[in-house]
Amino acid sequence: MTVKTRFAPSPTGYLHVGGARTALYSWLYAKKNNGKFVLRIEDTDRERSTEESVQAILDGMNWLGLAHDEGPIYQTHRFERYAEIRDQLLTDKKAYRCYCSKERLEELREQQMANKENIGYDGHCRNISEEAQDLSQPHVIRFKNPLDGAVTFVDLIKGEITVNNSELDDLIIARSDGTPTYNFTVVVDDLDMEISHVIRGDDHVNNTPRQINMIEALGSQRPLFAHVPMILGDDGKRLSKRHGAVGVMQYRDDGYLPQALLNYLVRLGWSHGDQELFSREEMIELFDLKDVNRAPSAFNTDKLNWLNQQYMKSLPASEVAKHLQWHLDEQGVDTSDGVSVELLIPEMAERVKTLKELASAIRYFYQDYQEFDTKAAKKHLRPVARQPLELAKDKLSTEENWTAETLHGLVSSTAEELELGMGKVGMPLRVAITGAGMSPDLGVTLEWIGKDAVLRRIDKALTFIAEREANI
Ligand code: GLU
Repeated sequence: MTVKTRFAPSPTGYLHVGGARTALYSWLYAKKNNGKFVLRIEDTDRERSTEESVQAILDGMNWLGLAHDEGPIYQTHRFERYAEIRDQLLTDKKAYRCYCSKERLEELREQQMANKENIGYDGHCRNISEEAQDLSQPHVIRFKNPLDGAVTFVDLIKGEITVNNSELDDLIIARSDGTPTYNFTVVVDDLDMEISHVIRGDDHVNNTPRQINMIEALGSQRPLFAHVPMILGDDGKRLSKRHGAVGVMQYRDDGYLPQALLNYLVRLGWSHGDQELFSREEMIELFDLKDVNRAPSAFNTDKLNWLNQQYMKSLPASEVAKHLQWHLDEQGVDTSDGVSVELLIPEMAERVKTLKELASAIRYFYQDYQEFDTKAAKKHLRPVARQPLELAKDKLSTEENWTAETLHGLVSSTAEELELGMGKVGMPLRVAITGAGMSPDLGVTLEWIGKDAVLRRIDKALTFIAEREANI
């Protein structure tokens, strides 16, 4: 069988984490089987669909690197095709016009509730003859769901599912304004696009038997179905905005690497032994629908942070730098005149969890800091630090060979001359040149910050100490 999967989001909001995971699973399954992956934009609900949302979906897919082989196909461009199939169903008497008023349907519903019956359309217009109809009257089109029997399908994640037709009513396939409805367009599209595997969220599992009945009424072969369980927040409730970032692009903004988010998403509901880290190639090789959990999975931000750090440390620095650049631009850090960002990444990745933090943590290599970190300054820029800073500054100011090794030697000789431990010189100096207490090896930090900035910042620290002394 030629495998063809699709991701079919409705553009009514962000590309959220649940959608991205469904997209990833569909994409992986297609890649694994040398198949094709289709992107279909289900924008028939014109009131709720927006351009921005379409863009957010395209941006999100692009950022995650989930390229489609076909599409994006917009359902709003296919109305003629849906009308054609709708008319075919009408001609074949597999669909009918329903003239029931809103009031009648409302009443029916109330009655059914009062009698504790299944809620649904009662087939009132199912058998009205052609002659008895006035087509100028407002009407919808309903699919004639079989009255007897049952629908059975084997879900590739959930196993066998059977639903009696008596539980399914005649659903609307076209509204009174002629626009087609979700369940109908999905069927037409999945058939036309020759989708072999429908992989989607399990909020759609109840639609599947209805869709299967339509597929059969059209005399077509059904695809296979896999319904992916939902994602819960850390509090066990369905993941939503309340839990923080839900749109995929928000994760970019918050400083996550797409590689980390993909790895996180693939593991969220799927496992391969106890392996945690998967390259894209490994995901493709190892992913299988049968290993997707049946139970919902819970989102865990700590784990995502951990993965992000792993990827910042292990990906080639050039790749991390590409993604870091967005944050540097965002935070106004111009790195064009300083040390290469690619040298900083391996040194600094250990100390931060996100690219956003990384961009801010490397700022001092390119710009003078505005203020000292209060805690670090309080601890290390004390009157006792004045002498070591002054002596270090003297030595540094005359040093021509500005390399990490030499500079490190200068710091040691300062400590020796003053008969102080290395820390008593190193820490004040580190706070002086970085504004805070965290940096790579001091010699390296001095080298990369550069002579002018180092001397200027030591002066700033000395002023700070003097002011502090004056205030005592
Ligand atoms: N458009 C539907 C949604 O965004 C998905 C339809 C499907 O995958 O069959 O929930």
